[in-house]
Amino acid sequence: MTDWFGKRHDAPVYDDGAEVPVPVGMACWYCKERIKADDDGFQIPALMDVPQFDPPEYGPANYHRWCLFRMILGPRLTDAALRKHYGG
Ligand SMILES: [Zn+2]
Repeated sequence: MTDWFGKRHDAPVYDDGAEVPVPVGMACWYCKERIKADDDGFQIPALMDVPQFDPPEYGPANYHRWCLFRMILGPRLTDAALRKHYGG
């Protein structure tokens, strides 16, 4: 399940998830920048198998909306879509 935060857009990816509070201050797992109050994006269950979680724990991985698309589609396809959409 992919939960979402911030603005909901008209796309099927939002249909099966739930709206969650914007995880302000948490790091985006793709770009590592902190999520801001006016960001939108997704939360995905993740296994945090890192030394500070012993044993490993499940928790949400936060992604900015376009960062998740970059992770799935790759930066070339995502950036081409952004240029087409925004005319850049
Ligand atoms: Zn990001």
